Amino acid sequence: MHEFTAEVEALAQEVLAYSLDRLKNDPPLDGPRSAEDLFAQVGNTITARGLGGHEALELFTSVLAKACISTDHPRNLAFIPSAPSEYANLFDLVVGASALYGGSWQEGAGAVFAENQALRWLCDLAGLPESAGGVFVQGGTVGNLSALVVARDQARKKFPDASRWVIACSQEAHSSIAAAANVMDVDVMKVDVSPDGKLMGDALAQAIDELHSTTSKRVFAVVATSGTTNLGIIDDLKAIAVTAHDRDVWFHVDGAYGLAALCAPSVRSKFDGIESADSFIVDPHKWLFAPYDACALIYRDPELARLVHTQHAAYLEPLKDGAWSPSDYAIQLTRRTRGLPFWFSLAAHGTNAYTQAMEHSLRVAQQAAQLVKNHPNLELLCEPELSIVAFTRKGWTMSDYQQWSEQLLDDQVGFIPPSSHQGVPILRFAIVNPWTKISDIELILARL
Ligand SMILES: *Cc1c(COP(=O)(O)O)cnc(C)c1O
Repeated sequence: MHEFTAEVEALAQEVLAYSLDRLKNDPPLDGPRSAEDLFAQVGNTITARGLGGHEALELFTSVLAKACISTDHPRNLAFIPSAPSEYANLFDLVVGASALYGGSWQEGAGAVFAENQALRWLCDLAGLPESAGGVFVQGGTVGNLSALVVARDQARKKFPDASRWVIACSQEAHSSIAAAANVMDVDVMKVDVSPDGKLMGDALAQAIDELHSTTSKRVFAVVATSGTTNLGIIDDLKAIAVTAHDRDVWFHVDGAYGLAALCAPSVRSKFDGIESADSFIVDPHKWLFAPYDACALIYRDPELARLVHTQHAAYLEPLKDGAWSPSDYAIQLTRRTRGLPFWFSLAAHGTNAYTQAMEHSLRVAQQAAQLVKNHPNLELLCEPELSIVAFTRKGWTMSDYQQWSEQLLDDQVGFIPPSSHQGVPILRFAIVNPWTKISDIELILARL
């Protein structure tokens, strides 16, 4: 039996009270502190006798948690922040208390069934066939890597004479593609983008054909980005799909941020071509209101992934019962049922609520772009394609941007670190939080 003593019961109340408070109120942004500083306040927390639950929780809530920036603050518009729904966060508590094993159907059938329904919703939005499926993995980086490993396996079977494997993607592809290539020991061919930043079918075709006709190297996967991280730009998926498939090349779409907007009718047509993907990823922890960490990795034909990723050992034989085991579809074995908070929120709220929340962010981004255009000191870099608004401040150097950003955080107004585009420093708002209002944007713009 569990030993649920009065002390544990009291701690449970404290944990729930803290969690509810965190969910009910806008948290402060907070900010980082040095390790020396933190040590001076909490000392060594790992002791032979233990601090006790109350004391350890107190150290966390009063010191350590406050040295972490709140990623769900409505004026945290940095990188791609997060905005889990209250339901998703609450269900994460349930997952934490439930000792669920998400690696196999045998041990986690009910949880895996629910995760698969949430994945099904994404497959349907993308227009993939009934046979499509996948798994929730830790993040987009692992998702991209897992898909690319399957793509290479296919290419090895079709083109045994290739001297070296190559991934083709745009200059603007996410850093995780280079990281995956490094792990796989393959090359990356970065193809020039159009003036508005998109990878186009003809430029891609030319680059691939030149490589194939002048070397014995072979492109085994094309990675299109749908929603670049910096500017939210969507590659020409339709033409890229044709270019890839005409050459018997795997077509993967990295939609870690942007593919969430598949559920927004106002921008759905920008993703035309996604229905031809051999695989794609989208991170519910970015713009689908789920807590860290969850990436949905989806294959048109999951069987191809199962053949590559399934681990084999005597002690795993009981799992080879023909049932759907999520472990078999990515680089992983033991896994948390990390898709469940997303599933619960989607099941409880319904998909219409997702569409509404998404359209809200898109509208705020459009309004923010208009405010930037009207601002005497600012220049909009490009019309937002999704919900990222990028601009420059006239006359500023990188160090001006950095100082401004640090002051903004010090004053607990917002978190907007500078980025750059083609060597020019920029600011960008990544708007994924339904609680971010146009008044939040105004507050920030007033300081520029
Ligand atoms: C964030 C992002 C990734 C990486 O996802 P993680 O979950 O951070 O590993 C990959 N691609 C794009 C386009 C992204 O925006």
